[in-house]
Amino acid sequence: MHTEEIDLTVTAPVYNEEDTVEELVSRISAAVAPLGVHWELLLVLDGCTDGTRDRLLALRSRIAELRVIELSRNFGLQNAVQACLENSRGRAVLLLDGDLQDPPEMIPELYRLCRDGADVVYTRKKSRAVGPLKRLAFAGFYWVQGLLIPYAIPRQAGNFCCLSRRAVRILLSLPERNRYFPGLRAWIGLPSVCVDYDRDPRFAGAPKQNWFRLLSLAMDGIFYFTDLPLKVSLLLGVLSLVCAGGLTANVLIQKLVTHTAIPGWASTIIAISFFGGVQLVCLGILGLYVQRVFDEVRRRPWYVVDREWDSESPPGSRPSGQA
Ligand code: UDP
Ligand code: MG
Repeated sequence: MHTEEIDLTVTAPVYNEEDTVEELVSRISAAVAPLGVHWELLLVLDGCTDGTRDRLLALRSRIAELRVIELSRNFGLQNAVQACLENSRGRAVLLLDGDLQDPPEMIPELYRLCRDGADVVYTRKKSRAVGPLKRLAFAGFYWVQGLLIPYAIPRQAGNFCCLSRRAVRILLSLPERNRYFPGLRAWIGLPSVCVDYDRDPRFAGAPKQNWFRLLSLAMDGIFYFTDLPLKVSLLLGVLSLVCAGGLTANVLIQKLVTHTAIPGWASTIIAISFFGGVQLVCLGILGLYVQRVFDEVRRRPWYVVDREWDSESPPGSRPSGQA
């Protein structure tokens, strides 16, 4: 199929979802079939080590629209999403998670809004099927992000969205290594429509984004999009200098006017540890930016494709080029 012939690419990153993929493919097919469009279903396997690939390949005889791209190892969610976008061919691209937390039954509505002229149809989670601690952490993250970032990255908006080809082209033209997708999608600023939805629980298996990965995603979502923390740390530095000046003046006045030395050393220790702490926090913030600059200048590809299959490939595998 040529690019022009494909109206819609439905695509998802998939990492060890063997108990979900069959249901995922059948629910997506059932949702898209009534639209009567030419479409493809592109699943990017992000270094799966379980039976996900075999189960998917077994489906190819039934689902002619299925394309499977296997990355050479686990590159992480953001890079897998980049692979989904780069390898999509449709005039519209619908991105969803591969664990059925984003209901495929919403695809027709999102696609229709996109076809009617919105370049970006993103979704906002009215509710998410996670525990109170995670819900609190997400709320805290969106609060900090909203506070620090000068242009609006919509709160509670994840990857689930439908994009026009124009939006995909612009997103792919952004040169940075970091691919914090909801941030880049907001940054391009094209006409957008928001659809609210309730996020389902996972169909099967455990989340692949553990706390550590979520935290590093959250830091990308902040440090790549604002330099405000650097400015705040500079301000903190200046403030602590002013405080230090005040303390010195206080000591001098006590010595010269009242002729009493400050008794004890507690105040000194408190001052030293306070300023030491401020300096370390500022250095830490600087370090977070330096590490991101390092990532950018290295300019490694986001992912490496190992193999690719579509309905016409032989049952074995065919090698494919790198991204
Ligand atoms: N995923 C991926 N690579 C990873 C981690 C996750 O492709 O390194 C996929 C995963 O299979 C799922 C989607 O990305 O389809 C979202 O991941 P997960 O459900 O773990 O994230 P959460 O919903 O908890 O944010
Ligand atoms: Mg999930």
